[in-house]
Amino acid sequence: MWRSLRPLGRSDATGGYRRYAWTAADADCRLWFRMQAEARRLDVETDRNGNQWAWLGDPTAGDAVVTGSHLDSVPDGGAFDGPLGVVSAFAALDELRARGVSFRRPLAIVNFGDEEGARFGLACVGSRLAAGQLTREKAFELRDADGVSLPRAMEAAGYDPEAIGPDPERLARIGAFVELHVEQGRALDLSGDPVGIASAIWPHGRWRYDFRGEANHAGTTRIADRRDPMLPYAETVLAARREAELAGAVATFGKIAVEPNGVNAIPSLVRGWLDARAADEATLDEVIGGIQNAAREHAARHGVELGVTRESFTPVVDFEHALRDELARILGESAGKVPVLGTGAGHDAGILSASVPTAMLFVRNPTGVSHSPAEFAAEDDCLAGVRALADVLEGLACH
Ligand SMILES: [Zn+2]
Repeated sequence: MWRSLRPLGRSDATGGYRRYAWTAADADCRLWFRMQAEARRLDVETDRNGNQWAWLGDPTAGDAVVTGSHLDSVPDGGAFDGPLGVVSAFAALDELRARGVSFRRPLAIVNFGDEEGARFGLACVGSRLAAGQLTREKAFELRDADGVSLPRAMEAAGYDPEAIGPDPERLARIGAFVELHVEQGRALDLSGDPVGIASAIWPHGRWRYDFRGEANHAGTTRIADRRDPMLPYAETVLAARREAELAGAVATFGKIAVEPNGVNAIPSLVRGWLDARAADEATLDEVIGGIQNAAREHAARHGVELGVTRESFTPVVDFEHALRDELARILGESAGKVPVLGTGAGHDAGILSASVPTAMLFVRNPTGVSHSPAEFAAEDDCLAGVRALADVLEGLACH
């Protein structure tokens, strides 16, 4: 499977993947999914929001066990984020057939569309639409960098955008959804385990910091006369690091815009975007509060105006305890004790968890690097992931 998937949407220049929603690379991935499903005699359907489903058993019977992930990528993404969950799903089905088990619940493998949001700037579009967390109106307003709207892009790829919208009937067929994913951190590497179970997805948000000062000549303006917004911005970046470190959270200024952005000009405006995440909302509030206090204090000291705008916030996703405990029990019998860990990254599983019992398995990533061509999982760990997923599917769908 990896051999046939490897060239799809891969940039020769960087070795990274550029599998963006509704592009030719996306179509290649969708065709690959269909061929894998058909080779296994599964019934393939694409839902109204462009998510692909491969069914073993009657989709309308209800209480289905569903597994899978996504095949799209971030710009110059790695091979594993998304595809590992889809490849492992097909491989786990092969494993279960080799074991000769019989299924008492329908099983489906899913490829969610546009998970990374690389093209239209919003993550998990396919699952959000299905779960009713993104309205049809908002989806129609999404545009890519060239101004192409989501409906036009879908149309160009041969899909009917008029059909998109909430899909409660389809979600009601699902009794349990289990997404396997490469870990995007080093918790499993540090604990020495190939596979882990997700406890929760950390609450996270994005804040825009606008520091407004006064543009002036970099050569002739006396230090004492300056209102330089770069200085309180710099202090705020350091404060973010300090507050996050103290709280065991993460906080990052990864994007900045400067006006007038001239090498010989004191800036009039420095705009920085803060991404912050923590294990719980109280901790996140504390970190955000600490960063804002520092920003305010330093802005005042430099005679700079400060505006802070919360641009997005996603509350904590606590995966259903009953299903999580069931996974721990199943894997405890087959693989021994399996660690339970939280994650700072968003997933389709997080979106679906509001509608159906949902769980996640993580496979060790030795460097913790993801969203980069350096993303990696060792073959033995991938196989341990497949066995764990097969055990879970067998426990849920066969016994
Ligand atoms: Zn992913």
